Amino acid sequence: MARIGFIGLGNMGLPMAQNLIKAGHAVAGLDISKSQVDKLVAAGGTAAGSINALASGADVVITMLPAGAQVREVYLGPDGVLAAAGRDTLLIDSSTIDVASARAVAAAAQDKGLAMLDAPVSGGVGGAQAATLTFMVGGSDAAFARAKPILDTLGKTVVHAGGPGNGQVAKICNNMILGVSMIAVSEAFVLAEKLGLDAQKLFDISSKSSGQCWSLTSYCPVPGLVPTSPSNRDYQAGFTAAMMLKDLKLAQDAANAAGATTPLGADAAKIYAKYVDSGEAGRDFSGIIRFVRGA
Ligand code: NAD
Repeated sequence: MARIGFIGLGNMGLPMAQNLIKAGHAVAGLDISKSQVDKLVAAGGTAAGSINALASGADVVITMLPAGAQVREVYLGPDGVLAAAGRDTLLIDSSTIDVASARAVAAAAQDKGLAMLDAPVSGGVGGAQAATLTFMVGGSDAAFARAKPILDTLGKTVVHAGGPGNGQVAKICNNMILGVSMIAVSEAFVLAEKLGLDAQKLFDISSKSSGQCWSLTSYCPVPGLVPTSPSNRDYQAGFTAAMMLKDLKLAQDAANAAGATTPLGADAAKIYAKYVDSGEAGRDFSGIIRFVRGA
């Protein structure tokens, strides 16, 4: 059993913290929203009064925050995690954030002699609840070995992607593939529709041909073809269009900083920005097919 401090008890963080409690860990939680902390306490956790109280006695601190700004604030602030954590405390940030912030916070942790990992996830709220997340982890071999048993209780796949920040790199590259492929699959179905090819026929053919991909066979944007797809539930998220846009923007920022040319990633970001601006920020990202059809 470990003493775990968990900061950021939102849609993802709360079920993750609840799964740590179920696995027998002592979890102290912190969130700027009191109602989220109350839910953790109701599940058997405790409420930490401050970052200092949470981090100073913890074996592990896990954060699940919206973006790089909050992660920098929570770790680097004068009363932040790095100021409070003991030398043996392992730090794990599972938020999806920009690579530069992840590497800056990891470097600051290292300067203080603290082990830190970036460990963003894929799998969404359902994966967080069912403890089937995929973790993409950046940091040292030694820190990864310490974190693995904890992350194994929260996910079914835990991959060490390399040094600090590489978890975030893996996450944004994966989601750039996903954003581009969802638009490509949507365009193909809309074109088939206009040319008189039945959606079921295209699915049967492409799912066994070279067009096969996850966006087609696991998360099909056309209703009625893959029973678990959000398309069957009026595109209720799932993974929201706003989240997809966030990740595509992170990928573009990273591509620009690294001098990489990613024209399809750039177009995908523009298309999702228009979709989000059309009032569909909270819709599942596969609803982009409606936008493609109407555009
Ligand atoms: P969320 O907005 O539901 O939760 C974030 C929580 O952090 C909120 O409860 C908020 O009150 C809290 N918070 C914000 N600033 C804080 C601070 N300074 N101190 C303490 N608490 C603070 O977001 P989420 O959906 O849980 O996502 C969290 C992270 O996981 C994001 O980086 C997101 O990109 C990533 N992610 C989300 C999903 C998903 O499907 N929701 C999937 C994969 C990855």
